[in-house]
Amino acid sequence: MDTLLIATVHKIKWFLLSTGLLAVAISTAFADPAPKPDVVLHGLVHASQNHGYIAAPFHVPAGVKRVTLVFSYTGKDQRTALDLGLQDPAELRCWSGGNKSVLTVGLADATPSCLPGPIPAGTWKVVIGVPNIRPQVTSHYTARIFFTRSGLVADYPEVLREPLRAGPAWFRGDLHMHTGHSDGQCPNQTGTMVPCPVFVTVEAAVRRGLDFIAITDHNARSQYDAMRELQPYFNKVLLIPGREITTNFGHLNLLGTTDYLDFRLGTPAVPTVNDLLRNARKLGALISINHPSDPTGEQCMGCGWNPSPPANMHLLNAIEAVNGGSEKFPSLSGIPFWMRQLNLGYRLTAIGGSDNHRPLMPLDEPNSVGSPTTVVYAADLSTPAILEGIHAGHVFLDLTGSHDRMDVLTASCGGSRAQMGDLLSAPKGAALSLNVQVADVPGAKVEFLEDGKVLSSDQAGSASNSPRTFHASWTSDGARHWFLAQVLGPDGHLWLLGNPVYINWKETLN
Ligand SMILES: [Zn+2]
Ligand SMILES: [Zn+2]
Repeated sequence: MDTLLIATVHKIKWFLLSTGLLAVAISTAFADPAPKPDVVLHGLVHASQNHGYIAAPFHVPAGVKRVTLVFSYTGKDQRTALDLGLQDPAELRCWSGGNKSVLTVGLADATPSCLPGPIPAGTWKVVIGVPNIRPQVTSHYTARIFFTRSGLVADYPEVLREPLRAGPAWFRGDLHMHTGHSDGQCPNQTGTMVPCPVFVTVEAAVRRGLDFIAITDHNARSQYDAMRELQPYFNKVLLIPGREITTNFGHLNLLGTTDYLDFRLGTPAVPTVNDLLRNARKLGALISINHPSDPTGEQCMGCGWNPSPPANMHLLNAIEAVNGGSEKFPSLSGIPFWMRQLNLGYRLTAIGGSDNHRPLMPLDEPNSVGSPTTVVYAADLSTPAILEGIHAGHVFLDLTGSHDRMDVLTASCGGSRAQMGDLLSAPKGAALSLNVQVADVPGAKVEFLEDGKVLSSDQAGSASNSPRTFHASWTSDGARHWFLAQVLGPDGHLWLLGNPVYINWKETLN
């Protein structure tokens, strides 16, 4: 599906979600065809095979990057027990005993019991051990095998991308953090700082109460195997495969794929940043510029965004408007950079990322996991749905990292209605109505911005913990504009930042 078509589907999906029609639509126009296995093997296991091994061969074509096996058999009620393994042309890649019915082997990650690595074409075998089958019993097994040709999570077989939570909601997460697979550190048992295991970061996300995190080690892919192991255990925190593409001319987050991307910007392999961005888009990943306003120097090498020639901003999807570091040093905020892009006509989603490197730091410190939090309206809690919500701009940022603060802007004109990230047409002279629902913002100031300048503001009142709606109106001049709602706390700091509603913009999404 090309990008424009994806964007159109997103917008239609959002409209349907907002009008309650999605359930009907999913069963018709947008229903993915039931994913069919590439190979299905059936076989019988007889009593004469008790204590033996069976090998069921199948052919893996060239170009496959992941093999996934879903195994089932009859006779368990008669105490038939079958062990499961997977063999590639050269070696045994998995042996699970009888404890797993799904095995996946990818280039960078695999089910515990299996080895990740290259997927050679040729004859593979499902290996079935038979620890027990009673006399007179025959069991029927079915092995459904899926081949995946990309590292994009959205391309995985359904069994590998099932939502952790069904149904649309606002989900809270953090899109930028480092573990011991790059420069994330924590103290070991004797207090020495060491590369920090991935589970420590996930536990920090649990303490914050987050719904999702993207683990974005610098140019590394080794973290994906740890995430594969951890996800079933941490079944309330979605683990999104990410990577911080770290160059000498700026940093970018690549979200949703485990595929390799050559990051050596400025070499013959990747001459310009636009080559890098085009290569990233070919992978189907979501791409953001990280901490665009950071300076580059010996303190933080390559951290500032200064590629030459400059990036074609149409090749990007998002900007890290708030980084944990910019919360500490407001002069480094990426918000002015992001708003400049909006004023130039680039429709880029503002996201946040803690850039945490020390997962055990107290949660009330900037840079701690979930500070800031990115809040995404998504169709469910799965990697494809969260990234789709970000791509569509259905996002606000909670710089306080709370569990419940809300900043949800909708706009209406005539009979049409839009929320953050959406387009709305407002002919010259038409009245635009802006409504923002906020929650848990006692004593705060609610501001509506037009093209980055304050259009109007209201005081939320000191007792206001429950959801409240604030309103502004505007008469259209027929030109292109963007409007957002933000909330400043009684401390004068930015607490919540919404993404814009786009008025009179063309039907394109980055
Ligand atoms: Zn960075
Ligand atoms: Zn980083």
